[in-house]
Parts: sequence; structure tokens; C-alpha cells
Amino acid sequence: MSADATSLSLTTPLAEVPEIPARVVKLLAKESLETVGEVIWQLPFRHEDRRHAADTIFQPSETPVCHQVRVTKTSQKFFGRRRGAGMFDAMVEPEAGAALGQGLTLRWWNMPYMGKAIAEDQVLFVHGKIKDQKGRLIMSHPEYEIVGEDEDAGGAMVHTGRITPVYRLRGGLTQKALRVAAWHVCRRLGDDFAEDVLPTPSARGEFAGWNRTRAMKVVHFPVDQAELEVASRYLALEEFFGYQLRVVHRRRSFVESGGQSHAGPGDQVAQFERSLPFALTEAQRRCVEEIRVDMASARPMNRLLHGDVGSGKTVVAFLSMVRAVECGAQAALMAPTQILAEQHFQNARKWLEPLGIRVGLKTGSRRESGGGLELWSGGGDAPDVIIGTHALLHDRELVHNLGIVVIDEQHKFGVAQRARLIEKGRTPDVLVMTATPIPRTLTLTIYGDLDVSTIDERPKARGKVVTKIRPASKVKEAAAFLKAQLLEGRQAYLVYPLIDESEKLDVKAATTGFDEWQTWLAPHRVGLLHGRMSAEEKDDVMRQFRDADIEALVSTTVIEVGVDVPNATVMYIQGAERFGLAQLHQLRGRIGRGEHTSYCVLFVKDKDPEAKARLTIMEETHDGFKIAEEDLKRRGPGDVLGRAQSGQSPLRFSAYLADTRLVSTARKLAERTLDEDPRLRSRRFDGIRDFVLQAESGGATLQ
Ligand code: ADP
Ligand code: MG
Repeated sequence: MSADATSLSLTTPLAEVPEIPARVVKLLAKESLETVGEVIWQLPFRHEDRRHAADTIFQPSETPVCHQVRVTKTSQKFFGRRRGAGMFDAMVEPEAGAALGQGLTLRWWNMPYMGKAIAEDQVLFVHGKIKDQKGRLIMSHPEYEIVGEDEDAGGAMVHTGRITPVYRLRGGLTQKALRVAAWHVCRRLGDDFAEDVLPTPSARGEFAGWNRTRAMKVVHFPVDQAELEVASRYLALEEFFGYQLRVVHRRRSFVESGGQSHAGPGDQVAQFERSLPFALTEAQRRCVEEIRVDMASARPMNRLLHGDVGSGKTVVAFLSMVRAVECGAQAALMAPTQILAEQHFQNARKWLEPLGIRVGLKTGSRRESGGGLELWSGGGDAPDVIIGTHALLHDRELVHNLGIVVIDEQHKFGVAQRARLIEKGRTPDVLVMTATPIPRTLTLTIYGDLDVSTIDERPKARGKVVTKIRPASKVKEAAAFLKAQLLEGRQAYLVYPLIDESEKLDVKAATTGFDEWQTWLAPHRVGLLHGRMSAEEKDDVMRQFRDADIEALVSTTVIEVGVDVPNATVMYIQGAERFGLAQLHQLRGRIGRGEHTSYCVLFVKDKDPEAKARLTIMEETHDGFKIAEEDLKRRGPGDVLGRAQSGQSPLRFSAYLADTRLVSTARKLAERTLDEDPRLRSRRFDGIRDFVLQAESGGATLQ
């Protein structure tokens, strides 16, 4: 049952690697780690520098330290009646020579078998914190390794005395077991066990001399930090490369699917713009122009319109839709919820009908009870502009000559749905809108298959939003201020956080809050909105709020993105410390939409200075991109990415996403690779071909 080094591959079962103890193989198997590859891909989430600290002095330390020591004496004490209760001590001195200062005691509680493992005169590497306990220096439960005697590791230093990998554990896994398995796997794998996915690095670049095999091994057991960094970057580049192959491929298939040129005279577009009660901002104007150029081209447009909440994306979208209509095509606008669709429909009637454009609303399918709501102005023919929810996708009568599709709040739509809509026309132009501010460094990855237009300016004619952080105990006082605002005819959102991800608690907090606010704000009308309500109930409450039948809305975080109630000027957010910055920003975007000054108060737990410090940026800026960047700094890109892709597979090396150079290199390599091998027929892509090409079918999981 022995395998020689050359026959080991990523699919070799661990049981066939003779050096890995059977006990370890069994332990790993319980957590479904059964092959060499599965162990290799258990990437350490960090490394500890446990290279031997050469000094011969033991000192108390708040952070774990590493020492090479010799055992001078051991002692074992038992106490109590419980079996195994007791304490095992090993007195040690530095291996390098007698201690200059005090000696050190290694101490294990309730582990009587330590007496069998540790004996006088052994040389150990130990790693742990040293504490001064009544004048004695004690290291409790250190990680240790007997030099030259660790059978599992075949006599090598694996756990200490080196830069040591630390793995994320689950189930019954232990650091030592994973480390031992990874160690033997790395030792036994040949020098080219994993075929390179990346092209061979240039001889002068950062990755000269590197390949996949080396990087995979080094990322577990690096010689030093510098080597570890290059290995991680290599694997990050490899991962981003796979990802970019996918988005570039998707982008190319889209372009090749054939489009139509929408280059009308522009008279109606100009007329529409003149009819608006405001002038477009510079940023809006720029985006309109970028879209115009795309639409005029015979290639289909595939563009993201990216802009902070309240930056005025809707009007840009409508201008583009009018442009398509002017060319004799239909335009569709898809919203994630019924209430948003209705809101767009009202705008469309107000803005487009005066131009003689017929507007329709389509929500719900015909088969559903009541047949869904279908309204359109002007006669029997299908409308020029159709607004709706995803139900739009199912109606082939209504939509027959689609020139442009606008998808609002993109993150709520899957790629599959997008692909489906695109099938309906002869590859219409597609404009995707999102209000999730994503730092520029990330758009290339997240929206890599789209061109990006950004509205980075807010319309000026806006009341400002004053944001304040207050302790939760002041909430009742704040009620008086709120009441005054309601008396002036304004409206308010009272937001409660998601607690422990449990909807039950979430609903309870809001429900209790609802009772309190009803008392405090009487006789004003208070409404309640939470995640346990049906879609119809929610829509109903939102409608009442929009029509000012409800003046203060107590809600969990389910307030719909995109809802535009300009009369709402107050938002109180309870338990603000529980929210991410970006989420707070999204919520706050619901106010400050009208001419009046708005007030956002973030209530945080009393005596939580840390929360207060984190949220201060909310008081300082209203710029979603700045806030997103701050979030990125504080919480890492995984989070930003996670939010944009809600629930989709995160990248292993997401920490490197902020590295624009690495991401653009991946992009360039992907473009070049697809030029040369559009179907990725080369063998080196065996492992990722499906992932890359799958994007075509619309079954993609990443945006
Ligand atoms: P979002 O980008 O969040 O979707 P909207 O398109 O809903 O923002 O716009 C928010 C509000 O600002 C709307 O009431 C809209 O009519 C108004 N608006 C849009 N552009 C301008 C502008 N240039 N000047 C003033 N108000 C504008
Ligand atoms: Mg919007």
C-alpha cells in the first residue's frame, strides 16, 4: 500500500500516503477530507511565526512566544476524587544554555497522560503565553513538539520552530492533525503535481520561477513571510484569473449574440429632458452620453449604472428608454418588488405619457390568482414602455420587440433571470442599475462583464441630512423631537435591527417597539413592517406610508431599497452598532429625498465607545463610496463582495481583491487567453473549464 512520490496526485486518497498516521486519516475523513487535494485546499487562514526565539530569558508575555527548551524535572499531582483530575508540571530551561533569569514551568491541567509523553531531558519546542503567577513563570497548555521524536511528523518540526500554518477547524479536526497531513502531503507530492492554470510567469516579473505546485506547498509551509506573500499572491492571481476568464467569456458571448443599433434623432429624448422640473447633474449627463454611444452601436449594450442612493438613476434610465422607443422598439424596466414597479410606473406616466409614449405595468403572472395587475395607458396595442417585476419575463405577448431592458437594483436579480430576459428580444441593450456603492477597485471583479457608468454626484436641490449618534437610553427624549416633525407634516422610519439573524427576535423587537412608539407618538398613526409579513401585507403597508396614511413606520430592515417617499425626513435606527456601515448608508438613503432637512439618529448601546467610533464616519459623510471604502478597510473585501453577491461563493483570496494591479493582471491574462483559446480546450483548463463556460447557460453563481 505504498505510493512512490511520483504517483501521488490531488485525487490520491490520504489512506495511500503511508506517512500519515491512520488515526489522522480517520479524523480527517470524518470531516470529509479524504484526498490529497482536499487537504491541500484547506488553506491556512493565517500563519504564526514560531521560529525559535533565540534568547535565553523567559519573560511574561501577552502574545504567545516560542522557545526551545530542555525538560529538567517533571511532577504530577492528583487531587479530588474525579479520575484524571490533577496537574502535570514540567520544569524547563532554555536549550541554548542555563536560564539567565527565572526558570519556566509548563503546566497541563487534567491531562494525566502528559506524564507519559513528557520526560526529563527531552528537548521541546513550546509555544504559548507566559504568565507570572505569584512569582513563578507558567506556560499553561502550550503547543509543544518533542524535537526529533514527533512520530506523526516523521521527526520533522511541523508545529513549532517554524512559520506555522493555522487552519480553520470544524468538527473534530485539530490543528496538529491537519498540519501533519498537510506536511506529509506537501513532502510527498512531486514537483509538478498540479498543472499550472496560469501561463508561465515572465522571467523578470514578481512570479519568476513560480508555479502552481510551489505556491500550493509554500502557502502551507513557507520558509519566511516574503515567500508566503508571493505564494499567496500567486494563488490569488490564479483564482482571479479563473474568475476573469468567466466574466470576459460571458461578456464576449453576449456581444456576439448580435444586437441592434438604437440611434434615433433624439428629439423625443430632448423633449423629455426639457420637461423635467430639474436640470440633470453633470454626472447624470455623462452617464446618459455613455449609454447613448452604446445604444447607437450595433453591438448590444451591457452596462452597469452605478450610483449612490438618491443620485438619480431612474431619470437616466428613462432617458435611455425613450431613446429606444424613439427607434420604434419597446423598453422594459424590471424592478425587484411590486411597490418599486408601481413607483416607477407612476413616474413613467407622469413623464412619458405627455410625450405620447404608451406605458404599461405588469406585475404578477396571468396564472396567479387575480391575474396580477396589468395596466396600460392607450389602447389595444402593447405599450412602448413596460414596467414590472420578474413576471415580465413570462409574458411573450406583451414584450415582443424589446430594444432595451433596464434592471433596477441588480443585486436582487440572479444572472439566470437576466439571461432569460435577454433571450426575449433579439439581444436587447441591457442597463443594470445598482445602489450598492462598490469601491472602484472591486467593480472590475464584481461587474467584470459589464461596462460601468457611475453617478458620483448628488442632485443639489436637496435638503441636507443631519446624522447623529446617540446612546440608546436617550430614545424617549428623541420621541419629542420626532413628534414635532410629525406635527409639521413630515414622516419617519423607525428601524429595528436583525438580532442574531433570527427573524423571530427581529420581529419581536420591532413589535415591542411598535407598541412603545404608538404610545409615545399618539395620536399620530404608526405602522409596522417586518419580514414575517406576506408580500401583499408589506406592499399594503408601504402604500399607506407612501400615501401618508401612516406617518411613522416601525420596521425591521425590510424597508424596500429604492422606495422614494420624499416627505419622510426622520430615521431612527435602534441598535445601530449591529449594522454594517454600508447597510446603514442604504437605510439612510430613504430620507433626505425632499426639500426639507432630514435627521438620521443612530442609537447605540450605552457605553460602547468602539461602536461609536466605527459609526462616526456616518456623521461625517454622506458619500456612499467613501463609506464603502471605509467598510472595505475595516472589514475586508470579502464582506463587500459578499453583500454584492449575497450568499454566493466567496473567493478564497478575497483579501487581495483590493489589489488593483493583481486584478488587472488577471483581467489582461484572461483576455489574452481567450483570444488564443476561446473554448479553453487546452488540458490545463480541465479543472476550471466548466466554471468558466457555465456562465453561458445563465446558471452562473457569481455576478
Ligand atoms: P436613485 O438613484 O436612488 O434610484 P432616484 O432616481 O429615485 O434615485 O432619484 C431620487 C430623487 O431625486 C427622485 O425624486 C428624482 O426625481 C430626483 N432627481 C433625480 N435627478 C435629479 C436632479 N438632477 N436634480 C434634482 N432632483 C433629481
Ligand atoms: Mg432607484
